[in-house]
Amino acid sequence: MPLNKAVTQLDWRSPPGGSETVAAGPAVPLDSGALTVCPACDMIIATGPVEVPVGSRLICPRCRNTVRESKKDPVRRTLALSLTGLILFLPAHFLVLLTFKVFGMQDQGSVFDSIRILYRQNYLFVSFLVLLTGMIFPLLKLLLLFMVSLDLYRQRLSRLTPFMLRWYHHLEEWGMSEVYLIGILVAVAKMHHTTLIIYDKGFFCFIGLVTVMIGTTLVLDEHAFWEGIEALAARKERHPQAASAGPPPDRVSPRQTAMTAGLVQCRTCHKVLPFRQPPPGREAHCPRCGGRLHLRRPQSLGTTWALVLCAIIFLLPANLIPIMKVEFLGIPKSSTIMDGINYFFQSGSFGIGLIILTASILVPLFKIIGLLLLLLSIHCRRLNWLTHKAVMFRFIEFIGRWSMLDVFVISLLCALADFGFFSTIKTAAGVTFFSLVVLSTMFATICFDPRLLWDAALSTSSRAEE
Ligand SMILES: [Zn+2]
Ligand SMILES: [Zn+2]
Repeated sequence: MPLNKAVTQLDWRSPPGGSETVAAGPAVPLDSGALTVCPACDMIIATGPVEVPVGSRLICPRCRNTVRESKKDPVRRTLALSLTGLILFLPAHFLVLLTFKVFGMQDQGSVFDSIRILYRQNYLFVSFLVLLTGMIFPLLKLLLLFMVSLDLYRQRLSRLTPFMLRWYHHLEEWGMSEVYLIGILVAVAKMHHTTLIIYDKGFFCFIGLVTVMIGTTLVLDEHAFWEGIEALAARKERHPQAASAGPPPDRVSPRQTAMTAGLVQCRTCHKVLPFRQPPPGREAHCPRCGGRLHLRRPQSLGTTWALVLCAIIFLLPANLIPIMKVEFLGIPKSSTIMDGINYFFQSGSFGIGLIILTASILVPLFKIIGLLLLLLSIHCRRLNWLTHKAVMFRFIEFIGRWSMLDVFVISLLCALADFGFFSTIKTAAGVTFFSLVVLSTMFATICFDPRLLWDAALSTSSRAEE
């Protein structure tokens, strides 16, 4: 199978609509472990093992999803970077980040202070959300990666190793340190016209931490990690069989979906297994990672609809109710999200204004409209633009977390710009609704199963053929 240096593409073309059911080549005997299946559209890409050279990617010819990306020396590099991240974690979150000075008065604070101030202002939900996404989840991600890579490096498998890697996978998008760093830079841009800003040790530690965390995502090869875990488990003969795994079908062809071949792919570790419907009240579990196995995510469309509708309902108060209150010489002034954006445009900071406009208004709107389009196209069984819709869904997944930017900026400004009677910044009720919009859209994206797009197209084309 030819692989070029940068991107690996298999030489199969999707027909218009991508709803092919006809096998491209002769059917071959099944070894489900050797199959390569696209997790985003369920198409069987190869019926044998595919070697992906280091630095190359295997891309699904139907939905353009990156199925596999091979990294150089992933275990040792992940181990080194996650350990560095753990060392930087405490100074980055507890040392003073910035000091703001104005007319001889000064205020300073750390990342932890920004969470504490939200809690003291009685915004318990928002402070808890910032605590989780800004501190706890990033710490857990580093800790889990460190433990897993250490186990793989020492070639010792503990009972918890697959569990830890599974939880890293689930927490991946919920740790938002890089969004928080952009939040710090926006807070600096907002205050630098009126305030003298001193960058403290915590600021540099935080930049170091975010650099390391981005590095871990670049060097981590989850596929290689799961294969390493599986090999260690097999060596120890601890590899259990799936409770509901049935006998595999005799033959399977490429360009068929895994579901139509009687197979299921684990959503967490992407292992392909024969599937048999479990008895009522029981669930099938992946023998490699322990995650639940479903042919398609249960109640996916209903839950996504409910969450998108929640996001639409929360969107109005989030934009109409003030999210921040500024008191200058005892005179309070409330500002909504749009007021904050106007402030940047009027003061000439167009770049920062655009970042906030994108993160706070355009991204939530794009996510809601995009998810509505996907849901409607499944219900109406629209066959056109399937690959574009699949790419749009992955983009919605990617941008989801960046809407938290405004919440982080407000929490930082509350902690760093408290100059007593002269001037204070406080959180206002709109921020709770805005956080709910971000949460609803993120959960909606998680609940949506993109494979249903291709299933809808497949069933429509099958009906047309009859
Ligand atoms: Zn695909
Ligand atoms: Zn699994």
